[in-house]
Amino acid sequence: MNVNNLMAELERKHPGENEYLQAVREVLESIEEVYNQHPEFEKAKIVERLVEPDRIFTFRVTWVDDKGEVQTNLGYRVQFNSAIGPYKGGLRFHKAVNPSMLKFLGFEQTFKNALTTLPMGGAKGGSDFNPKGKSDREVMRFCQAFMTEFHRHIGQDIDCPAGDVGVGGREVGYLYGQYRRIVGAAEFGAMSGKAICTGGSILRPEATGFGAVYYLREVLKHDGKEVKGIRVAMSGYGNVGWGIMKKAAELGAKVTYFAGPDGYIHDPDGVVGEKLDFILEMRAKDPMHCKPYADKYGVEFVPGEKCWGVKDVDVYMPAATQNDVRMESAEKIAASGVKYYIEVANMPTTNDALNYLRAQKHMVVAPSKAVNAGGVGVSGLEMSQNSERLVWTAEEVDAQLHKMMKNIHKVSAEAAEEYGLGYDLVAGANIAGFKKVAQAMYEQGVF
Ligand code: GLU
Repeated sequence: MNVNNLMAELERKHPGENEYLQAVREVLESIEEVYNQHPEFEKAKIVERLVEPDRIFTFRVTWVDDKGEVQTNLGYRVQFNSAIGPYKGGLRFHKAVNPSMLKFLGFEQTFKNALTTLPMGGAKGGSDFNPKGKSDREVMRFCQAFMTEFHRHIGQDIDCPAGDVGVGGREVGYLYGQYRRIVGAAEFGAMSGKAICTGGSILRPEATGFGAVYYLREVLKHDGKEVKGIRVAMSGYGNVGWGIMKKAAELGAKVTYFAGPDGYIHDPDGVVGEKLDFILEMRAKDPMHCKPYADKYGVEFVPGEKCWGVKDVDVYMPAATQNDVRMESAEKIAASGVKYYIEVANMPTTNDALNYLRAQKHMVVAPSKAVNAGGVGVSGLEMSQNSERLVWTAEEVDAQLHKMMKNIHKVSAEAAEEYGLGYDLVAGANIAGFKKVAQAMYEQGVF
């Protein structure tokens, strides 16, 4: 394989799909050498097949808003790869959703899911529907209209969607309800992220954030350090960011900086205790502003800025959205002297910024597809519970999540070591995830 040739071909076929092309390049660059050591993969054209989704569905979603006006949005599902299990991945409802974004997310999901060790293929879907400012009834009508078309593409052994940005417990509830109504069966494993009373798993909402902190613990352990006393600067305080704050507080670490869409907060005492509840209230009232936190607790708020570059922390964790950290921020991060850069949101760093940070000798960089895998990991455990018709306790789920995150860190570190790359967690995760999917494709023949 020659990455530049392959990318030139993809750019020709998919012009302007920048996020998708970025995600593919990032993975291919780190697996190129490994791939070239496997002539059997080369012969079976594994990479050429793996970079294209198996299929993409695009459909119209028409619904009626509260004023009685007819609205039309677009719905999508990118079924990327099912070599190791049924398609699996979230649905994103956001005004910026387009096929390139969902292809990048589906591609990343394929390797992330492989890292969890559970039998899940990769997919992603969603809509350009903007849930902001919509009434509860409008959200329900939209979800029902979306599922009326979408149901024919999913199923517990085919494709199991879940939540992502803009799709939380409420949306999953309406979507699953409509699915059940159409198929006329309680097919629990056809969606994950469900409420506990409809077959959901305990700890699923917290799983991504908790898993990220478990992963961070392994990274620190590798350096002979503990989580206790660690200070974190992060972006995002949505479901995932909040889970990080909560688990960090539980383990004696603290989030001392967090950034939102309107600027960043500096709370030297950390987001602990009842402040965690306040964040939930603040977010429910207005997800676009974190300033009310500063007003309530009398701490510093810096408008219009991100906290990348602050020096009095031990770890950076971008947990907001893709391409949040660009070259300019990466330079500030490197100059701050902070050692750990732990990606949490899917692809939060541009490729040039990521390569720049990875090249810093004093830094350890961990990739989102490993760090945030606990979310889909617990979705996988939800599917297991649904198949067993059993409900696991919080302790059981947490123990499995913990084991999964430890293992993801271990296999990534080992894969990098095996190929002479030292403690390169980015390359290691790509190699470990890729090898599993590539082997499964190879074993099943050419199609
Ligand atoms: N949207 C989450 C992710 O990016 C979770 C997907 C799932 O649970 O299927 O991994």
